Amino acid sequence: MPFRPRYTGLISKYKDRLPVSDDARPISLGEGNTPLIRLNHIPRDLGRDVDLYVKFEGLNPTGSFKDRGMTMAVTHAREQGSAAVICASTGNTSASAAAYAARAGMRAFVLIPDGKIAMGKLAQAIMHGAEVLQIAGNFDAGMRIVKDMADHAPVTIVNSINPYRLQGQKTAAFEIVEELERAPDYHCLPVGNAGNITAHWIGYCECAGKRSEHLTDACSYCGGNCRYASAIVGDRPTMIGYQASGSAPFMRGGPVQEPDTVATAIRIGDPQSWEYAWHASRESGGWFDECSDEEILEAQRWLAAREGVFCEPASAASVAGAMRDIRNGRIPEGSTVVCTLTGHGLKDPDVAIRQSGDAIKTIPAELDTVRRAILDKL
Ligand SMILES: *Cc1c(COP(=O)(O)O)cnc(C)c1O
Repeated sequence: MPFRPRYTGLISKYKDRLPVSDDARPISLGEGNTPLIRLNHIPRDLGRDVDLYVKFEGLNPTGSFKDRGMTMAVTHAREQGSAAVICASTGNTSASAAAYAARAGMRAFVLIPDGKIAMGKLAQAIMHGAEVLQIAGNFDAGMRIVKDMADHAPVTIVNSINPYRLQGQKTAAFEIVEELERAPDYHCLPVGNAGNITAHWIGYCECAGKRSEHLTDACSYCGGNCRYASAIVGDRPTMIGYQASGSAPFMRGGPVQEPDTVATAIRIGDPQSWEYAWHASRESGGWFDECSDEEILEAQRWLAAREGVFCEPASAASVAGAMRDIRNGRIPEGSTVVCTLTGHGLKDPDVAIRQSGDAIKTIPAELDTVRRAILDKL
């Protein structure tokens, strides 16, 4: 057949593997179906023989993987007759909630931390018409308020404690398995609230037709998602979660009071999916590790300058960590590795420009000067 049906989002595509009713009308912006890009230069620069891919989730409709979860959460909220959604956010959840709520004709209330939100994300929440409530406190403080608010106002929480979020986000694992025709050996993600690493593990378990012993709560809310499992592949990957050093509760063994990092999307001290993520890590034989802000920014620059892929700082933590573990052999040669690039670089132009070092100078608008400037650089 010469034509393929129009792609209309992940609920339509994966209806039979998601907890959606048959007559559900998906609230979709065409999320999912993001490219899995094979990196050419970085493995060569590292001098290691690995098959290294990035799943560029920054190419979702609002520029982050949050859209995968939000299409599910908002579709379900509207089906239940909810008129408003609420979330605490380091930025991307609010951008996504605002857009999907707009699409559904619902209100969105977003609690953002004072001053620590990237400009692009704030612009999105405002343009999509969300009620932006900036609080004098960090993400964790906002999260505590949001969890209480559901008892005090008729609003649906669309943070990743909403299990429909994880259900939507598991589809990233489905797409990877379909493209590679197998599961990768290693899957690396940045970890903030730890919902996404949990969701990926659920997705991979389902593809392998294996029940996760410990994630049944995450599933049972939706009637036991294991009924969606069908063995497409034999193996599951080893899950690796990387945190920013200033915001690394999984490395410290408990909540971090004043999390701080340039990677604002993972500036979270008290992860909501703490237990799930530990189970995913243990079951998969994986580990958590941390990256410094310098390593994160270096990886972000490398990806942009060497591979043409511009992700936001938090996303680069997955590649920063993977590069280190490939170099030191913890990820062995011959492995197939996927890193999730969670959000787009344009979300946070300030951090990118601040890195550019020497300021851009203005020169005369003359052929000769411009020619000399070019020849100097060649
Ligand atoms: C939300 C987010 C994360 C963290 O994901 P969790 O599910 O909270 O661990 C990482 N990177 C970006 C860009 C995000 O928006």
